[in-house]
Amino acid sequence: MQKTITTLDIPIGVKEQIYWIEVIRGLWITNRHFWVNMGRHCAKALGFQPKERAAATYQYPEERRPVHPRWRGRHRLTLKQNGAMRCTACMLCETVCPSDCISITPGESPDPAVEKFPERFDIDILRCCFCGMCVEACPLDAIRMDLQDWTQVGYTRDIIYTKEFLMGIDKNRPWEEWCVKRLREGDAQLKDAA
Ligand code: SF4
Ligand code: SF4
Repeated sequence: MQKTITTLDIPIGVKEQIYWIEVIRGLWITNRHFWVNMGRHCAKALGFQPKERAAATYQYPEERRPVHPRWRGRHRLTLKQNGAMRCTACMLCETVCPSDCISITPGESPDPAVEKFPERFDIDILRCCFCGMCVEACPLDAIRMDLQDWTQVGYTRDIIYTKEFLMGIDKNRPWEEWCVKRLREGDAQLKDAA
């Protein structure tokens, strides 16, 4: 099928046609923002409290903007002290998920004290709407979203979070230690920003 291309005829005013007027206007706006912010930063450094906060720039990706401690981001499956997963494949999170993105395959647990465990536990992260209902529904605190990490899909295109990834035993990222470290970093950044 042939595509139809629509072209818009936007009228250009005299100011835009002269060109230099717009260039000077752009430079004026950039400089105004720079000096206003510089003034606010200097005032704060000298102990004054400016009415409006100065704009801050984060050197992303080395420096990340701190998120609220209660913010819900990347999922993880919690572990018992012996390293076994808490999840007993009760299917509550899968049932309650409004995006239908959790997929659990239950199996018989090797631990005689536990009836079932998930042989597979996958989350299709592109479908997730981060509502947190899976966390709320879990009766065993087996799934959390407390990693303060908002990078969901990277260059490696990890779109399906597997059980190993969610447990933090994949990719050398033990969640428990990583989580504590990130939370401490986040606390420090929040204090600095205050
Ligand atoms: S946060 Fe919501 S949408 Fe995402 S997996 Fe949990 S219940 Fe499903
Ligand atoms: S994570 Fe919690 S709610 Fe989901 S299957 Fe495991 S025990 Fe049940």
